[in-house]
Amino acid sequence: MKKPLFALLVLLPILVCAQTDDRIYDIIDAVSAERIQTDVTKLVNFGTRHTLSDTVSQTRGIGAARRWIKSEFEKTSKNCGDCLEVFYQKDLIKKGDNERIVHDVMVVNVVAIQRGTKYPNRYIIMSGDIDSRVSDPTDFTSDSPGANDNASGMAGTLEAARVLSKYKFENSIIYVGLSGEEQGLYGGKGLAAHAKKNGWEIIGVLNNDMIGNIKGVDGIIDNREFRIFSEPVPPTETEKERNARRFYGGEVDGISRQLARYVYKNTKTYMPEMNPMMVYRLDRFGRGGHHRPFNDAGFAGIRIMEAHENYTQQHQDIRIENGTAYGDVLEHVDFDYARKLTAVNAINLASIAWAPPAPKEVKIGGIVEPSARLQWSKVDGVASYKIYWRDTTAPQWEHSRNVGNATQFTLKGIVIDNSFFGVSAVSADGFESPVVFPNSIMR
Ligand SMILES: [Zn+2]
Repeated sequence: MKKPLFALLVLLPILVCAQTDDRIYDIIDAVSAERIQTDVTKLVNFGTRHTLSDTVSQTRGIGAARRWIKSEFEKTSKNCGDCLEVFYQKDLIKKGDNERIVHDVMVVNVVAIQRGTKYPNRYIIMSGDIDSRVSDPTDFTSDSPGANDNASGMAGTLEAARVLSKYKFENSIIYVGLSGEEQGLYGGKGLAAHAKKNGWEIIGVLNNDMIGNIKGVDGIIDNREFRIFSEPVPPTETEKERNARRFYGGEVDGISRQLARYVYKNTKTYMPEMNPMMVYRLDRFGRGGHHRPFNDAGFAGIRIMEAHENYTQQHQDIRIENGTAYGDVLEHVDFDYARKLTAVNAINLASIAWAPPAPKEVKIGGIVEPSARLQWSKVDGVASYKIYWRDTTAPQWEHSRNVGNATQFTLKGIVIDNSFFGVSAVSADGFESPVVFPNSIMR
């Protein structure tokens, strides 16, 4: 009897490291390209979803679109015993706030909260956009299908809610349709301010903006690659923190970057057919997206999107010019690709919502010593902690070690100067928090 037990104890740490959870595979399988197609089609059929468009009609304009989105979230909620709290979050923006606000407008987001069982005030957020535009950003009457930009992200968000509402999570998940993106990121600004005011603890924002195009303007056709944009460090950091980075590192290790690495790794683990591309910048060169207002408020947030854009199909009047058909129309959306990127979101929402909170404080020491030392604040109910490290030039964490339920550890023979380090918290069934880069120094 003794021998098998001993063997089991030896094997256990190995099993824990390589752990995957079947529920994550079930979630991938449950995401439906057909339902995403139905929803993108429905959104396109509102004619225009321009933020300044009609709000009274039942069939055309952003008012009809947001009422339909709200009704879809409510339908999902009904199917899970009222598991979603669905509401409008809105702010009045006055004419002239910027040159794209040509009349007073209520910017209305549609929010659905799936309340966490253990950490109801901690939120992981998936966002898409309700609004669309054509060539002139102030043209709120012309047909503006916005099929890829961004009915695709909105439909993905509705679908993720349908799939994940079948499960219970320890942390809260928010599915949100944001408005006012094309007019100046107003919806994200409004929800980030709402989060601050209500003391929400935001774990991170997965902003989906254009997740349906596989034929790039560069001629490349690719239905496996996608991009994860993340800024290096929060813009809210203090001068003291900025100065400390010169001596202790962290230039490429801010909270949004850790979230991006998390999504990359989890995708590689569960969806090896996908090719995530980390992009070390806030967003596309000089362009914007709805994760930015959350970053501005000091929250972690990333942009998930297609790898190959087609600019003749974004922000364009529908027309034919010199033989080229312009316009963001339904035919250009690849619904199976949108399904894959929706699944990428869903598995990361689930993994984070099943994971414990990350340790708040992580200290590092080992200056002029042969070994790096780490120490972190205890998180209640955590099964174990995992230390990560990598070469200073490596984009992803390369090495890890699960150190059990300790709150400090010495990595023998690993010199502090030559690697970057971090710590995550792990649940009993193996779900991990994002990695925390050391935020304090031990002498
Ligand atoms: Zn756009």
